[in-house]
Amino acid sequence: MSKTIAINAGSSSLKWQLFEMPQEEVIASGIVERIGLNDSIFTIKYGEGQKYNEVLDINDHEFAINMLLAKMTELNIIASFEEITGAGHRVVAGGEHFKESALIDDAALKLIDDLAEFAPLHNPAEAAVIRVIQKLLPNTINVAVFDTSFHTTMPEVNYLYSIPMEYYEKYQARKYGAHGTSHRYVSEQAAEMLGKPIEELKIITCHLGNGASITAVDGGKSVDTSMGFTPLAGVTMGTRSGDIDPSLLPYLMGKLGLTDIKDMIDILNQKSGLTGLSGISSDMRDLEHSDKPEAQLALQIFADRVRKYIGSYVTVMNGVDAIVFTAGIGENDANMRKSIINGMTWFGCEIDDEKNNVRGEQRVISTEDSKVKVLLIPTDEEVMIARDVEALK
Ligand code: AMP
Repeated sequence: MSKTIAINAGSSSLKWQLFEMPQEEVIASGIVERIGLNDSIFTIKYGEGQKYNEVLDINDHEFAINMLLAKMTELNIIASFEEITGAGHRVVAGGEHFKESALIDDAALKLIDDLAEFAPLHNPAEAAVIRVIQKLLPNTINVAVFDTSFHTTMPEVNYLYSIPMEYYEKYQARKYGAHGTSHRYVSEQAAEMLGKPIEELKIITCHLGNGASITAVDGGKSVDTSMGFTPLAGVTMGTRSGDIDPSLLPYLMGKLGLTDIKDMIDILNQKSGLTGLSGISSDMRDLEHSDKPEAQLALQIFADRVRKYIGSYVTVMNGVDAIVFTAGIGENDANMRKSIINGMTWFGCEIDDEKNNVRGEQRVISTEDSKVKVLLIPTDEEVMIARDVEALK
């Protein structure tokens, strides 16, 4: 038996899925939340709807993985550690170096460490998890799957910022994008749904979750994406501002009495977006249930920013065959999908209200005569990670 674990480690959480490969069957999944805090939550789903739940203090990722492996044997999900022959790790920043998923050797791990400058909250946690797996499962192959790889096909005309060229040449200051694994998965799925080779399609993928990004996928390759040097850029998000004029920063720092730019960036990352605009919540559901005008305005701004990126990517690709919605909001929020597409009748793109009245199901949600197809495709980054491990085994 050959099992692969797909691991998505954040700074204080660890999500995972265990697959039987190559049949891509999910045999267990789980999440460890609040790592490093009191009352961490450890959850496993397995078998026929069985669940294991425990609340305890989990101080670090090493403890979390030790506990995970022990519980997997205790619950008979695996008979021994040797069954796990592959581990795939989501890594946020791969810089310019990692154009695709990579087997992790000492050199690759050092590069992941070095790229921490580009993703200070994520890469160190991901590298730590890789080291723990190397120690506990010495015969398991480790593969890194980067959020940025899919976007390394962007042409320089789209990834360069209009700043002195030497900043790119000396310091690699450029657009990298994120959510690459999700954009790759849904664009491939879209081509399958449309029954056409991906090489012949122009697709705009909208990953709308707590973090949100829009990508122009031309012939199967990312040619532009809304996130930038970091995932702070692009559309309005749950707590992130998305694009703003950088001159606002010193102005606001002066007004707020801030002296450390990090504090200002924290505000843009954690207190802005839907949370900042509405003063209520980062969650779409809370805003939709609120009758406060600020909540309604936040929803309009979100839809507007996404619509503008879609419009600009039609221009980038000189056309579009399909627009895809995915992730928490994209998969579940029919009102938001409608509100985004509503302003797009000018290029023959129309939502079918009945087909759109659905959550989390892969299907076409545009009308029969809509020139541009609109698709709802639940994302599956984990299966993509497992596939990449399989390909490198
Ligand atoms: P994600 O980051 O992909 O897990 O997406 C999380 C976001 O999806 C949440 O913050 C919500 O805003 C949104 N979401 C989840 N379920 C729904 C729903 N039923 N209706 C509207 N928004 C939802």
